[in-house]
Amino acid sequence: MQGKLIRFALLLAAFTCGTGSAQDFSKIQVKAEKLNDSITMLTGAGGNLALVVGKDSSFLVDDQYEQMAPKIKAAIDAITKQPVRFVINTHWHMDHTGGNETMGKMDAVIVAHDNVRKRMSAKQVVDFIGQTYEPSPDKALPVVTFQDGVTFHLNGETIRVTHLPNGHTDGDAIVHFQKSNIIHMGDLFFNGFYPFIDTYSGGSVDGVIAACDKVLAMADDATRLIPGHGPLARKADLQAYRDMLVATSQRIKAQMKEGKKMEDIIAANPTADYDVKWGKGFMTPKRYVEMLYKNLLK
Ligand SMILES: [Zn+2]
Repeated sequence: MQGKLIRFALLLAAFTCGTGSAQDFSKIQVKAEKLNDSITMLTGAGGNLALVVGKDSSFLVDDQYEQMAPKIKAAIDAITKQPVRFVINTHWHMDHTGGNETMGKMDAVIVAHDNVRKRMSAKQVVDFIGQTYEPSPDKALPVVTFQDGVTFHLNGETIRVTHLPNGHTDGDAIVHFQKSNIIHMGDLFFNGFYPFIDTYSGGSVDGVIAACDKVLAMADDATRLIPGHGPLARKADLQAYRDMLVATSQRIKAQMKEGKKMEDIIAANPTADYDVKWGKGFMTPKRYVEMLYKNLLK
């Protein structure tokens, strides 16, 4: 019964970070987009993955839902014969860590920020989406954790993993492939639609904006950005996302300062001019405004 409940919660978690509707995993294919000789972006259900292959071993950023694990494994097997030696989790959400148990059983070393292990080890109640997540099994937990960051030297690539505080959650990390000039941003970046910011897990809109500013300072026009959700992006896409977050959150802050109630702010449609471009994802404009209001109250 509990397994069933957890599975139902995982299905609903599609609403949390990603794609807008409850998903039938059986119909979802994993697509591989080769970015250069060693790095491939994989997409399916849940967060985008990055796979790095080479003569040393292979390295994976995030692993989507538990139900996707066999398809992800098959997609990896089609690209490399090397087993996955390291998995980095960009944050704890189940559409990014659900494949951890499968990877852990195959002896991959799972690495993440301290708070990812902490949250996966205990029951989590994400009130905004009305979801409760049971503790993850031991094999799914990160076995190496870090406070500020960690650097991998693999396949001739320097992979710098850096924690950015209180953005999408309190355990976010970005992964910078320095030689390849590619940055995986996890859910600090939703490319093309309003994001979910997880206030329950210590996230804040100001933290997401600060994270965008940090990556914008690291990136140049040739940098490729892998968002947590949405298509591969460039610096200009991240700039547009950052500017949208600043404008929309400032409007809501201003109305809150005037003492307006949440219902009145939502009814005033403060994001109207941004909704055409950003409001067609799983976070509707009304839900986005409600989320920002509750986030900014904290
Ligand atoms: Zn997330």
